[in-house]
Amino acid sequence: TIKLSARVQSVKPSATLAITARAKELRAAGKDVIGLGAGEPDFDTPEHIKQAAIAAIRDGFTKYTAVDGTPELKGAIIAKFQRENGFDYRPEEILVSCGGKQSFFNLAQAVLDPGDEVVIPAPYWVSYPDMVLLAGAVPVLVDAGAEQRFKITPAQLRGALTERTRLVVINSPSNPTGMAYSRDELTALGEVLRDFPQALIATDDMYEHIRWDTQTPFVNILNACPDLAPRTLVLNGVSKAYSMTGWRIGYAGGPEQVIKAMKKIQSQSTSNPTSISQVAAQAALEGPQDCIGEMLGAFRERHDFVVEALNRIDGIECLPTDGTFYVFPKVTGLIQRLDGVSNDLELAEYLIEQAGVALVPGSAFGLDGYARISIATSRQNLEQAMQRIAGIA
Ligand code: PLP
Repeated sequence: TIKLSARVQSVKPSATLAITARAKELRAAGKDVIGLGAGEPDFDTPEHIKQAAIAAIRDGFTKYTAVDGTPELKGAIIAKFQRENGFDYRPEEILVSCGGKQSFFNLAQAVLDPGDEVVIPAPYWVSYPDMVLLAGAVPVLVDAGAEQRFKITPAQLRGALTERTRLVVINSPSNPTGMAYSRDELTALGEVLRDFPQALIATDDMYEHIRWDTQTPFVNILNACPDLAPRTLVLNGVSKAYSMTGWRIGYAGGPEQVIKAMKKIQSQSTSNPTSISQVAAQAALEGPQDCIGEMLGAFRERHDFVVEALNRIDGIECLPTDGTFYVFPKVTGLIQRLDGVSNDLELAEYLIEQAGVALVPGSAFGLDGYARISIATSRQNLEQAMQRIAGIA
């Protein structure tokens, strides 16, 4: 056997990708499996975005670009931050990366040392703790269950912060819970953070555009507490808003010193994100925005259907969400009622094998007894999946 690094052995492969792979495998073997594991919109990338990329290829825009992104795309990102979030960044304060995933990876590598602590509210996006571990640092998980709408309280945050805290992660609206923090809640968290000036803050706004309450503007912690700007990184990307997960473009805005360090990490790993994808992302940010509204309408309608259908099943309780294309029901009642099933992992296995429904167990996101259901699939698939789960319940 070959000796692998302690580093790689400290992490596990992404559980969400594993479920999707298992569903694919069963389907290839002829089994009828409805996939509710997807972490990406089921819509096609909008046509004007594709056309921009095709034109880029034809024009020969197929070489290295600046490591941190083309000046044109950075300009589009700066304009987006101004227009939609009220932030004024200079080009030196922006880094374009290969997906939101690389933005966070760069950040972890750039600011964390062994022994540093990173506060991560649970349930969390699966990659945060593992990317923190890969940087040699320590994830400090703060549990927030359904009774607090999966959001941490200021008292919990205070309890988790120490003089070793180097980074605090906020993801709102959240993958996997679909919950978003209000301005008041963020203001209260910001007040606690003021007492820990050595802690950087990462706000992951990947689901900014997938929110049901379109009357209330999106807020992140910087909107609520502008004084935190010198130590806050705003992470976002085009993957979810424009159905561009495969193009791999994410971006970060933040203090120049940190952005520069993140860029240095990127320059020694991937270099620039794909030139063609950068042109596509620019078209997404600068072009017509009605594609977002169309997807949002479909997600909202499916959300309403699924939440109601789940709550009608004995043993499942599901809170309505604020946004994203996930719902995060409590399934402990169902676990208790099924023979041979004693936790959410076993429930996920049971459902995929016995009901032909693939979903991701809550423990993959740090909260046992729940499941993440993706509504990024057709209404027909969702109806059938709800019938199948009701059938075994
Ligand atoms: N942040 C959150 C909360 C996510 O859910 C995801 C994708 O699942 C990402 C970041 C990364 O997105 P990307 O595909 O752009 O790397």
